[in-house]
Amino acid sequence: MVIQWFPGHMAKATREVKEKLKLVDIVFELVDARCPLSSHNMYLDEVVKDKKKIIIFNKIDLCDRKETVKWKNYFENKGYVVVYTDAKNSNNLNKVIDKAKEELAEKIARQVAKGIKPRAIRSMVIGVPNVGKSTFINKLIKKNVANTANKPGVTKKQQWLKLNKDIELLDTPGILMPKFDNQEIGKKLSLIGSIKDDITPLDDVSLYLIELLKNNYLENLNNHYKLNVKAEDENLTIMEKIAEKRFKKIGGDYDYDSTIKLLIQDFRTQKFGLITLDNYNEIVNNEESYED
Ligand code: GDP
Repeated sequence: MVIQWFPGHMAKATREVKEKLKLVDIVFELVDARCPLSSHNMYLDEVVKDKKKIIIFNKIDLCDRKETVKWKNYFENKGYVVVYTDAKNSNNLNKVIDKAKEELAEKIARQVAKGIKPRAIRSMVIGVPNVGKSTFINKLIKKNVANTANKPGVTKKQQWLKLNKDIELLDTPGILMPKFDNQEIGKKLSLIGSIKDDITPLDDVSLYLIELLKNNYLENLNNHYKLNVKAEDENLTIMEKIAEKRFKKIGGDYDYDSTIKLLIQDFRTQKFGLITLDNYNEIVNNEESYED
């Protein structure tokens, strides 16, 4: 079973977002700091050619900072401005406003030079589901304005919120699901909760999680389950060892279903510590497959 990471309703949502993007001067793209490349929309540049963009690594409190620094450089080398945030705890949000002002200073100065009274800068938040868009908007505004259950197709009157005297933000974030065929990206998006579990092959996702953990965070994996597995061990063997530790056998067989759920739950509740799913060295050595 392959992950249907681009369900039909997403095409409509994408069209809607593209329309709204026409209204703004600057785009705040939220990515998950645990997989900044996999949760980034590679086609954003095509969608919004002439707009300024800031990439916001949200959930910075959950990631492995050694990897984050490499990804920050990666995006900066491509010309993006990068800001780290922890929206849940309102960390570093003002930096986003400062950077936006910096980015648009030239545009404002040009208007002033022409004798035009500059109108407020208009901005919009976009990103994949569950990356923290609504939390980010609400904390930035210090009010509950953004609709967390911002389902595509559920339209409501949108409003411009004032971030300060120069900048306005659209109250409704845009969900822009990247469109590509790479199943590894799909599995990572599933782990971070961007793709619904009921349309995801969770067995594949949990085996993939084991693969990522054994390659890059073996100690965390062993510590959490009190195991002594090695990176050379098969993913399925490792899963069975976890099953053996945690669940009774059913009819003489391992309880795979419970183990699969446990692994995914343990990742989502940070039981393995600070983990980054996008391993920089692995991906840049294999970048073509990421861009297909
Ligand atoms: P949206 O679907 O992109 O609008 O995401 P939400 O704003 O609904 O956030 C999804 C989940 O991530 C919620 O449980 C938030 O509390 C959590 N969250 C948002 N930002 C952060 C963050 O920076 N750090 C952590 N640890 N959790 C966050």
